[in-house]
Order: sequence, then structure tokens, then C-alpha cells
Amino acid sequence: MENISHMLDYLSLKRITAMHENEINKAISDVVTSGWYLNGNAVRLFEEHYRNYIGTQHCISCGNGLDALHLILRAYKELGQLHNGDEIIVPANTYIATILAITENNLKPVLVEPEITTLEIDDNRIEEVITRRTRAIMLVHLYGRCAYTEKIENICKQHKIKLIEDNAQAHGCTYNGKLTGSLGDAAAHSFYPGKNLGALGDAGAVTTNDFELAETIRTLGNYGSSRKYVFEYQGKNSRMDEVQAAVLDVKLKYLEEDNACRKEIAQYFEQNIKNDSIIIPKALNRDNVYHIFPILCVERNRLQEFLKENGVQTMIHYPIPPHKQEAYKKWNELSFPITERIHREELSIPCNQIMSLNDAERIVTLLNSFY
Ligand SMILES: *Cc1c(COP(=O)(O)O)cnc(C)c1O
Repeated sequence: MENISHMLDYLSLKRITAMHENEINKAISDVVTSGWYLNGNAVRLFEEHYRNYIGTQHCISCGNGLDALHLILRAYKELGQLHNGDEIIVPANTYIATILAITENNLKPVLVEPEITTLEIDDNRIEEVITRRTRAIMLVHLYGRCAYTEKIENICKQHKIKLIEDNAQAHGCTYNGKLTGSLGDAAAHSFYPGKNLGALGDAGAVTTNDFELAETIRTLGNYGSSRKYVFEYQGKNSRMDEVQAAVLDVKLKYLEEDNACRKEIAQYFEQNIKNDSIIIPKALNRDNVYHIFPILCVERNRLQEFLKENGVQTMIHYPIPPHKQEAYKKWNELSFPITERIHREELSIPCNQIMSLNDAERIVTLLNSFY
């Protein structure tokens, strides 16, 4: 088409990095010249800054978000608090990593439908799936929305089950003034480049107030060793490198500012998108750092095509739910109608800190004219 002013990328990591390019380059070059590339000062400093930010006593860095999830469950097993076959409650519409961490540890995921209004786990459906094997809820703050509720807090207390947060999509999100990642027994964070706090490669972390858990995770991620050449567990190698830690330490300073920009764009969408065929699932009374701005539309594929023709790139989070994946063949016949509807109708429109209100206006005009 001739009248496209410019292509609006869903997320330009190049432009996001460019915002603080000098500072990032300086941080990287300091690591390069230091000659120390793993388990050094940059990692130690980032861990300290991140745990202070989140508000927990411990932060253990690791290779990526999946490892962070995996290491939490593995450490509970090593500590004798989880056993093969124990049941872990998890939202059916999460990104597959949450579920992989459970099955990799020989634990049993129990999928629970989300609410269509919030897209977060439906806390009214949790108690009905609790059995005597239930040991934990993996609470996913999907799309940057807080999934924590008082009801979930009470269920965990009453049934003595652990609350593990998957905070891969919600850096900076709060509940009653406390940050997600500090609300449960332990939390996994991903710093995949496209997340609200993103590295320039893979990186992840666990936050917790549980000293014993923290030490076990640190040991497991270091080949199962806490003293050189002595191995207490059959561990794995999962480390955040110094370069990523140095980059994250720079970007952490701007996280609140970045999230405020996302909120401004998102609020413009919420106030101005007016089209009967488009639903904006609102997380009422819940904080939201808008990692993803999801809209629902029965004609999702046609809408995506329409936006693309008009120069706006969108994404789908996610096209196929975990229980319909080939990786989990034995669940393919299960039915989760709300989850399936979300995967059929969800479209993610650009929403990030480098967009202008003009960009947002352009998207709204297109969405409001879609028929
Ligand atoms: C990104 C993500 C992960 C995994 O993070 P990686 O760093 O890519 O391993 C886990 N859970 C959720 C919900 C995610 O969005």
C-alpha cells in the first residue's frame, strides 16, 4: 500500500537498546576489560539490586526463566518438600515453560481455566482440583497482570500448599504495594530480551525469603556443588554471565520509567478502542505492567491481516494452548473451552516504551475502523 507512513514493529529491541546505548556499551566494555566473565562482581551486584528492588532476602541468578522455574521445583524435591507425582496447579493458558518445569521434575501439572475477563487463573476453580497430592500453585502473572488474589493467599494457607510465582512477564507489577516476585514462597523471573526487563541474551533469576531454598538453588545451578570439586547433588549448569548482569543492572534503573510509558500507551488504548467486535479483557483492580496488550476478536486472523496491510505488526500469545501441543499428546483430548477461546481470539497489539501516542492513535484508528 502507498499510504503507509512507516511500518510499526511489534517490538523493536534495537530501538529499546538504543535508548541507553552508551551506558550499556560502557557496562559491557567494563566486563570485557575486567577479564572476569562468570560468577563475578557484576552478577553479585545485580543480584543485590534486584532482590532489593523486588523486596526479598535472596536473589539467585541463573541461565534463563525456564531454569529458574525448574530449579525452584528441583530444590523443593531435594529438600524433601516435593516428591515425584505430586500435583502442581497451573493456569491452562500459560506459556509452556511453566508446565515444562513441572513435567521435567516428574511432577503432575493440574491445569485450571483462566477467567475471560482477566485472562489470569480463575481463583474460583482452584479449590475443586485440590487433592491430597496437591503441593503448590504456580501462579503466572500473565501479560504483566497481577494474578495474585486474597482468595489464592487463603487457599494456600488453608491447604498448606506452596505459592510459586512465574514472574517472567510482570517485572515491576505490584499487589498492595508489594512487588510480584515477593508474594509467595519463591518466584521465577526471566530476562529474555523481549520481557519488560530484558537482557541482550538469556538470563533468569529466582527470588525468595527462604534461605535453605536459596542455598539449594544456588548449589543445584552450579553443578550441585557449593564447595569447589565437591558435589552434593546431580546438579546442572545454569549461570547468568557477567555481561548480561551488567546490562540488566543498567536497565533495572529504567524499569519503572519504561513501565510508566507502557501504562500511558495502554490506558490510551483502553479509553479509545471502541469497536463492538473487539474485547479488551480488563484486569480490574489489579496492577498491570502491560508486558503484552491482548485484545480478543472472533475474527482474529482477519484483524491481524488487516493491521499488517496497514503497516502494524502484531503477535499472538499464544496460537496453541499447552494441552493441544504435540509435546503433551496425552492431554490433546482434554477440553478447556476458555483457554481454547483465548488462543483462538487473542491478538497482541504493540505496547511498549518506545511508542509515541501518535503510534497508539494510529492503531486505535485502524482498530475502530475494522469491520
Ligand atoms: C518467557 C517466559 C518464561 C521462560 O523464560 P525464558 O527466559 O525464555 O526461559 C517462562 N514463563 C513465562 C510465562 C514466560 O513468558
